[in-house]
Amino acid sequence: MFDKKRILITGGAGFLGSNLCKHYLDRDNYVVALDNLFTGRLCNIQSFLNNKKFTFIEHDITKPITLNVDWIMNFACPASPYAYQKDPINTTKTSVIGAINMLDLANKNKDRIMQASTSEIYGDPEQHPQVESYKGCVNPIGPRACYDEGKRCAESLFFDYQRMYDLDIKVIRIFNTYGPAMDPNDGRVVSNFIVQALKNEPLTMFGDGTQTRSFCFVDDLVCGISKMMETNKGLAGPINLGNPCEFTLLELADTVLRLTKSKSKIQFKPLPTDDPQKRRPDITLAKKLLNWVPAIDLDTGLVKTIEYFSKNLNGQYRD
Ligand code: UDP
Repeated sequence: MFDKKRILITGGAGFLGSNLCKHYLDRDNYVVALDNLFTGRLCNIQSFLNNKKFTFIEHDITKPITLNVDWIMNFACPASPYAYQKDPINTTKTSVIGAINMLDLANKNKDRIMQASTSEIYGDPEQHPQVESYKGCVNPIGPRACYDEGKRCAESLFFDYQRMYDLDIKVIRIFNTYGPAMDPNDGRVVSNFIVQALKNEPLTMFGDGTQTRSFCFVDDLVCGISKMMETNKGLAGPINLGNPCEFTLLELADTVLRLTKSKSKIQFKPLPTDDPQKRRPDITLAKKLLNWVPAIDLDTGLVKTIEYFSKNLNGQYRD
């Protein structure tokens, strides 16, 4: 077990950020959450606000900030295609200028710093499953480029700071993740399908539903992230974190309908530009270096997520 730390979590009011705040507060660390609330939500951190070890600062990481912390976990960026395409220029700024500001802060403090990178680094992959050494197939001028290229540039910045300043960096590539604290309106497939099923509205299927994704429950991801943060200096990654069980979206829709006992039908809609056809992480590296494998299967994770969204739709939030 590591010593108690002062941990800065950017994007701390977001889906992953708030789950990380909870994880580290539960283990008695000091947590500072930064968020500009573009997609982050105060309801995600409401229950931490009276914890003396928790501080929330409304702040946009595209502006520099000085803070005295030990670890920085850079999770600030709109992450669903719907959200990151709403203001694509700002998405790029958040990824690139935000990364520079956080890396400068880490360099000044001599902090360990983690970058929440993404499977979008691989674009619409020609190699399956995706291994960390795969360089990807990203359209640099398409509507997803603001996120994909922004995150790719952030990775390159992290490795430049390591080479130039010997900074203690950790880069993880996160694959599709779901669970409590997701925004019911962020437009992702898991949240959309569950909310639509609970309301007995049609499930919006983009394309023919044969495209695949591999869905990781958030508790598994947080476990992998915390293992990565505790590794020795020098183990920088990038390292894939995700669940290698792959499903078509038609299979996901069937599972959601079965678990919610919904009467919803499926409504087919056009496939968005550059939507990846398949995605599955190769997690050999995470198994070997972190001794980490996801433990929660799709049915189990979806039941917990459905419970969260049911409460959310009724105006209640998690405790
Ligand atoms: N998708 C869908 N219906 C929705 C939302 C998304 O069919 O209501 C599809 C989307 O086109 C993609 C997959 O589900 O093929 C995963 O989309 P998501 O936005 O969750 O994340 P992505 O993996 O594309 O970043």
